[in-house]
Amino acid sequence: MPIRPELRHFYRGLAWNTARAGCRERAHDRCEHCRAKNGHVYVRERDGRWVLIQCGAAHLNNVAGDDRPENLAWLCRGCHLRHDREHHHETRAARKDRARPLLNPPQREEHTSV
Ligand SMILES: [Zn+2]
Repeated sequence: MPIRPELRHFYRGLAWNTARAGCRERAHDRCEHCRAKNGHVYVRERDGRWVLIQCGAAHLNNVAGDDRPENLAWLCRGCHLRHDREHHHETRAARKDRARPLLNPPQREEHTSV
């Protein structure tokens, strides 16, 4: 999933790079859920397509910026998406609801007569 622009600053800088590197080292550069090796390429049985394993640090509580080691897991893309599925569903639903005029009627200005 792309990182929303307002959250991108959490994924830059020395603090993030240090936390991410520690997570990767702890996991020996393997997905901590399915144990797939980062950078490994294999041919998927069901469709014969090449698949590249790409791991990254995931926030287990879905809070960007909470880079405590116990809150980070080194996950492949598939495991990361499965882990975040419910969170993505909730944030997408909230964003869609905010855009619905019936749920969020425009604020009326109060007119006072003098
Ligand atoms: Zn995995």
